[in-house]
Amino acid sequence: MSEINSPYTKRLLAVFMIAVMIVLGYTAYKTNEINTRAFEVYLEEELIGVVRTQEEALNIIDEIENKLSNTYSAECVLDKDLNFVDTHAKDDELVSNKELKDFISSKLDFLVAGYAISIDGQDAGILKTKEEAEEIVDLMKSQYINDTEGELLEVGFLEEIEINKDEVPLNSLTSKEDLFQYINLGADEIKTHVVEVGESFWTIAMMYDMSLDDLIEANPDKNPEKLQIADEVKLVIPTSMMTVVTVEKVEYDKDTDYETIVEDNDSMYKNQQKIKVEGQKGQSHIVSNKVKHNGKLVEEDILNEQVLKKPVDELVVKGTKEIPKTMATGIFAMPTRGRFTSGYGSRWGRMHRGIDIAASSGTHIKAADGGIVSFSGWQGTYGYMVEIDHENGYKTRYAHCSKLIVSKGTRVYKGEHIANIGSTGRSTGSHLHFEVIKNGVHVNPSKFVK
Ligand SMILES: [Zn+2]
Repeated sequence: MSEINSPYTKRLLAVFMIAVMIVLGYTAYKTNEINTRAFEVYLEEELIGVVRTQEEALNIIDEIENKLSNTYSAECVLDKDLNFVDTHAKDDELVSNKELKDFISSKLDFLVAGYAISIDGQDAGILKTKEEAEEIVDLMKSQYINDTEGELLEVGFLEEIEINKDEVPLNSLTSKEDLFQYINLGADEIKTHVVEVGESFWTIAMMYDMSLDDLIEANPDKNPEKLQIADEVKLVIPTSMMTVVTVEKVEYDKDTDYETIVEDNDSMYKNQQKIKVEGQKGQSHIVSNKVKHNGKLVEEDILNEQVLKKPVDELVVKGTKEIPKTMATGIFAMPTRGRFTSGYGSRWGRMHRGIDIAASSGTHIKAADGGIVSFSGWQGTYGYMVEIDHENGYKTRYAHCSKLIVSKGTRVYKGEHIANIGSTGRSTGSHLHFEVIKNGVHVNPSKFVK
């Protein structure tokens, strides 16, 4: 009997075979365990898939951040973290890179670095870069420093202006143009109204519940009286959120006003005055600092005033004497009541140098204005006539009277009874013939009395 076939040998072989099987089996098991090792990926708390390696998921995050940073030309940082938990999975259980990327992209908000312009502690808006924010501040200033009156000494803001870096959601970023307009006008957009037929500033103000004054102020380029159809009317008064303060040193010559001195004179009437010495403006050379807010002067500090020419006071002499009742007022009254029968001008080939007013004999004739009686008596074809010199270049005549009440040299007041109507001289029927003479020339009395 051979050794191989011995029972002892057989037993030994069996043990060996079992040992080999155990080793092989463990190795196979071990190999499988390593090959299926994987990671569950959580976005914060939410399971979004299983990956073989953590790097795959982290690379996707980098990729997304880089893509966003390029797209928005801004530094982008994801606002959620990835967490990993050990697991095992077969290849077909793994999530694809594309799926993972789409899912993360859809779930992520991201923050971008932004630069806020703060005005007195209030953010007016956020921009992508610090340079843009600085450009807006410079643009605000440049509106008021490019065409100054004098030498620009200082420029600044009334408000406290700061540029602060912040991390913000992408959709809160503003464009430079929009933010500049917002700060400069104090509103996102200036609402307007297009004028229609029949509308005026008044009806538009009513329509939008605005005051008329505000509407006029919002449209300094428009004439409220000359509103045209299709004109665009602003409904908001633009008010800048920033106030640019400039101090300019200016030099200029300026006229200085003269004083008027009034001197009483008791030989002149109260309604009379005359200039004895004519006033003359003076001139000064001014050096000053002008403080302006958004181009509007708010303060002027005079540094030096050099008088080039002194003003000359005007001297006015004013009367104090009571005005006599007999002094002409300059306005004629109708001298009698009656019927207008004939006007001034050519009549029957002859010049009629007055107007005729018919009334019954004895009707009172009154002085058309104050003055002195320069004639009272018979005057040929005029019959009985009164003439008054009003001492202002005018004379009046009252003809064909039946009775004279005043005599030459008498002072009469406006409306004083001077004669009665009659038909003396060349006259047909009782009437008043009334003439007005201006500096020796007859004029139409109808121009003065009605
Ligand atoms: Zn007449």
